[in-house]
Amino acid sequence: MSALNKTIIAVAQKLPTPCYIISENLLEKNLQQLSIIQKKAGCKILLAQKAFSMFYFYPLIAKYLRGTTSSGLYEAKLANEYMPTGENHIFSPAYTEKDFPEIISICKHIVFNSFSQWKRFGKEALAAGCKCGLRINPRFSTQEHAIYDPCSPGSRLGITADKFSGESLKGISGIHFHTLCEQGAEALEATLAVVEKDFGKYLYDMKWINLGGGHLITRQGYNTELLIELIKHLRDKYDLEVYLEPGEAVALDAGFLSASVLEIIDNDSHTAILDASAACHMPDVIEMPYRPNVVNSGKPGEKAFTYTFGGDTCLAGDIIGEYSFDNPLAVGEKIIFCDMAIYSMVKNNTFNGMALPSIAALKKNGQIEIVKSFNYNDFKNRLS
Ligand SMILES: *Cc1c(COP(=O)(O)O)cnc(C)c1O
Repeated sequence: MSALNKTIIAVAQKLPTPCYIISENLLEKNLQQLSIIQKKAGCKILLAQKAFSMFYFYPLIAKYLRGTTSSGLYEAKLANEYMPTGENHIFSPAYTEKDFPEIISICKHIVFNSFSQWKRFGKEALAAGCKCGLRINPRFSTQEHAIYDPCSPGSRLGITADKFSGESLKGISGIHFHTLCEQGAEALEATLAVVEKDFGKYLYDMKWINLGGGHLITRQGYNTELLIELIKHLRDKYDLEVYLEPGEAVALDAGFLSASVLEIIDNDSHTAILDASAACHMPDVIEMPYRPNVVNSGKPGEKAFTYTFGGDTCLAGDIIGEYSFDNPLAVGEKIIFCDMAIYSMVKNNTFNGMALPSIAALKKNGQIEIVKSFNYNDFKNRLS
């Protein structure tokens, strides 16, 4: 068994379930890698808060990254409150008159999704000293997850090249695109070729470009040399400041979700019912869909005892996946899901009155801190 698995199993034994366990060490390892890219490529990297908003760790993140990006007012406020220094950027498909004054008081880079939004809100943003950018849609898909593909036909995200004709770019200082999802630098290279072909003529007049997220820089085998080369090319050719705003890469593989076996049901197959739910605690398992890894488990049939994991809800489809183990599972046994820092806590819900998992930090010195626990009120207070 790997040293990491041993550590996590020991930590999980000391904690209640369900519980997220976020490792400071693993998070910092990712941050160090990102920080090296920043230095070598001369770019600025922002945390996309929508993937990971555990602000307990914002002081650590601020040591390595340049700032944050937000999807709307609430994320922007969170960054403003808890990210010690740094730039706060924002992109929303549509801003509202109600939120915009506060947004421009805390975000200094505002990205607009259409010329109509730019015309409605641009003046106010410029007057507040904000740098304004446009999100483009290069209409170039590099991935198969349709729900995560902003370049799919009819996408509402980004301005297509044809829409630029006849529009003035006076006041616009940046271009933004976000089209990747869990991808390598090769997908960025291919996308940039299209961006340069269709939008290159505008780039000479810009001050900055934001390459969005979806760069899985901290995954083993990521081609960092190519990424650095691509960033340098943009800086040299167009004299641009280059931003990246990964979410997933920041906290990739840095967190776990510990759950307990509540019951074993033997119908056509063996099902273990857990106090963690796909629908409530890891909705990407159903949405994407994917099968998260579980510590010390194998693929179905690989080890002697195979189980389907299901949540403690009444949703028939609340199924996490099939896993096999060397020994039969027992009620009360802990099951530890991997890579549960990103797109988990931020997506949690209390469907079926399910309890929200606690959030624990495993510190560098080995100490465990329960950062947050939830109770009945967290369910009740959102409903009336
Ligand atoms: C989701 C998103 C990101 C972060 O994407 P990851 O896949 O988590 O790296 C960055 N920018 C925008 C505009 C996004 O929508």
